Amino acid sequence: MNDPTGDRRLTTDNVHADRRFGVEHGGIHKPIHTSVQYGFDRVEDLIGVFQGTLKGGFNYARQGTPTTAALEAKITGLEQGFGSISFSTGMAAIAAIFLTLLRAGDHLVSSRYVFGNTNSVLGTIEGLGIAVDKVDACSVDAVAAAIRPTTRMVFVETIANPATQIPDLAAIGALCRERGLVYVVDNTITSPALFRPRDVQASLVVNSLTKTIAGHGEALGGAVTDTGLFDWSTYPNIFPAYRTGDAKGWGLQQLRKKGLRDMGGTLSSEQAHRISVGAETLTLRVARCSQTALTLARWLQQHPKIGAVHYPFLESHPQHARARQWFSGGSWLMGVELRDASTLVEVVNRLQLPIKATGLGDTRTLIIPVAPTIFWEAGPAARAAMGIAEGLLRLSIGLEEADDLIADFSQALG
Ligand SMILES: *Cc1c(COP(=O)(O)O)cnc(C)c1O
Repeated sequence: MNDPTGDRRLTTDNVHADRRFGVEHGGIHKPIHTSVQYGFDRVEDLIGVFQGTLKGGFNYARQGTPTTAALEAKITGLEQGFGSISFSTGMAAIAAIFLTLLRAGDHLVSSRYVFGNTNSVLGTIEGLGIAVDKVDACSVDAVAAAIRPTTRMVFVETIANPATQIPDLAAIGALCRERGLVYVVDNTITSPALFRPRDVQASLVVNSLTKTIAGHGEALGGAVTDTGLFDWSTYPNIFPAYRTGDAKGWGLQQLRKKGLRDMGGTLSSEQAHRISVGAETLTLRVARCSQTALTLARWLQQHPKIGAVHYPFLESHPQHARARQWFSGGSWLMGVELRDASTLVEVVNRLQLPIKATGLGDTRTLIIPVAPTIFWEAGPAARAAMGIAEGLLRLSIGLEEADDLIADFSQALG
């Protein structure tokens, strides 16, 4: 478990990360590099960039710029990984993992409780001949039972949205290690401020930079971090061209060439800059939001009009012990069930502070009734099967004072 406020290295390294590779013109902050092309005095250096022998060289911005590289180094430091690649969105990062590291005939085991658009991508790759099993990853046995000879990868999220289920993160890590499977952990909701998937032997870590890491809701971005734990020399899907140099880098090499160079899901320097600015306050925001969320969750839990509160740091949460063991805070994500689902619209309309909006991880608290919006397409039967109550509200807690949020819920619930 890491402590975001007490872990001096995490917070200190985070704010100083972009100065580690040289300061330009004395600028305190990393500049926004807008050049698409990069020129060299010696053609040997241009050749070196193409052949990967010139360290830190750039040739064309689709594969990265000094600004995106600085952000990638920051994420790598936060995740204590081997290296990272930034993408235009979290979805681009996830799609790149599936499309560049899996092939037709392969099998993927995914948690059943994943972000809706990730679930949609799983459907896309099934159409391309990749078999997918969706299991209740809260139990490692369910994951183990789904593994086949063709299984290559296991995909989970740290805290599921909106009902906050937590997979058996450590046991799945041990299982993947034993079976030689790529273990992908989407750390978006927790972020490296609360949890490092490397600690449970994750191979690849996904962060939607849009959410916790940027934190301001004003930029889209995603990242994949290789923890350095997976032995890519054993992975059959690495193309011969990327089987060069230290095998630790093979996975990222293929992801960058196929995912950025070929598929073009590149993060722009302008967006990377906005994300970097937000990321500087990551540990402070996450500690604060987690504290506020827990205070509000405790208050809501005892309210007679509330049926259930889904929040990992509440003792009533089914994976509470797991959350306390691995996460240094409960995050900003909460599910709240109204006892009387028929009051959903009027209660939400009476709330003054939370903004009625989809999306997560903003400075302001956001609220959305789940059944009539993000889970509407699923229909009532599928919602029931996924544990989505008709009266469920999803909250993304912002930077407001806990007392102000409590006062607002108090008047709205009547
Ligand atoms: C939002 C989200 C994504 C996708 O991120 P975008 O940056 O919006 O594309 C992926 N995973 C999780 C868990 C998310 O919440």
